[in-house]
Amino acid sequence: MEITGYGNQWVCDLVPYEPGKPIEETARELGLNPDEIIKLASNENPLGPSPKAKEAMIAEIEKAHLYPDGGGYRLRTALAEKHGVAFENIVLGNGSNEIIELLCHSFLKPGAGLIAAEHAFVVYKLMATLFGADYIEVPDPGFVHDLDAMAAAITPETRLLFIANPNNPTGTLVGQEEIDRFMEKIPDHVVVVFDEAYHEFLKDAPDVIRYVQSGRNVCVMRTFSKAQGLSALRIGYGITSPELAGLLNRSRQPFNANAIAQAGALAAIQDEEHIRDTVENNAKGLRYFEEAFTDRGWEFVPSHANFVMVKVGDGDAVFAKLLKKGIIVRAMRGYKLPEWVRISIGTPSQNQRCLQELDKVLAS
Ligand SMILES: *Cc1c(COP(=O)(O)O)cnc(C)c1O
Repeated sequence: MEITGYGNQWVCDLVPYEPGKPIEETARELGLNPDEIIKLASNENPLGPSPKAKEAMIAEIEKAHLYPDGGGYRLRTALAEKHGVAFENIVLGNGSNEIIELLCHSFLKPGAGLIAAEHAFVVYKLMATLFGADYIEVPDPGFVHDLDAMAAAITPETRLLFIANPNNPTGTLVGQEEIDRFMEKIPDHVVVVFDEAYHEFLKDAPDVIRYVQSGRNVCVMRTFSKAQGLSALRIGYGITSPELAGLLNRSRQPFNANAIAQAGALAAIQDEEHIRDTVENNAKGLRYFEEAFTDRGWEFVPSHANFVMVKVGDGDAVFAKLLKKGIIVRAMRGYKLPEWVRISIGTPSQNQRCLQELDKVLAS
């Protein structure tokens, strides 16, 4: 028998995550200059990293020979203060993706269940599969999480329920009232995870940290990868009860959040100017795309985040044609939406170039 035959079946069956196509790889394949390529594929910050974070990280490099503070004292203290919770409520992750994995480590096994929406962020499904657990997908009419249906899907075996708010790739949001009504129905054996990767872009954000403060089994996830522009560093965190935090901390590697990332994140929290500029640029860019799509009669999903999903007919073909022009977007076949692409909001000139090329592609 081949060695894979001895592997865990659920790992052998896993379809690997397909990331946004990197700029360097695209440049190599097309023989283009990397500087000519626009990547609007992974919801990254088009203004770059926080300048304050950059400065702090450069200083931290001097201490690269030392192991990081595995307990994350300074960053967790600052985050606790920012969110009005205790130090014990904060868990650092190697990106918030790792928080997803730590939750699965703590709660999933074959027979246990994870509930998410049909068009939810794909990593939930990957992780549930990786732990041999049951992935329960609940329909989301109009691409909006149906919280009543999600609550109704809970069984005695359910352990985790994920709500990305706003969701990726759809950009849709569920509001405070719906969440409050939903939380009344959730039994104690289920951990509700609110994935708030795009929180900074919201004008009127629901408050779910109140459920951590009131002692419910809730984990709120945040990341420095999006608004703060630190995707490469891999740093995110969970805000949760001390009991849950204890489980997640036992599940993680001792030095999961590296020192340079911790230093960058700590400085980024204080860089209000960078976040303000980022949010402003995003609001303008989103309006630009949504108005253009409306003018052209193209169907799109109104977004609360830093990307927008638009219906283009053949998503793979449009992705490939834009790629040849040096513009990387994301085809949505992996989300069972083969007619759609997702475009991250860029700088005004990037947005303009993307739209011009999209016009040409869809006219041809
Ligand atoms: C981008 C994203 C994340 C963040 O991932 P990191 O691991 O922190 O880079 C988490 N959840 C959703 C829904 C996202 O879109």
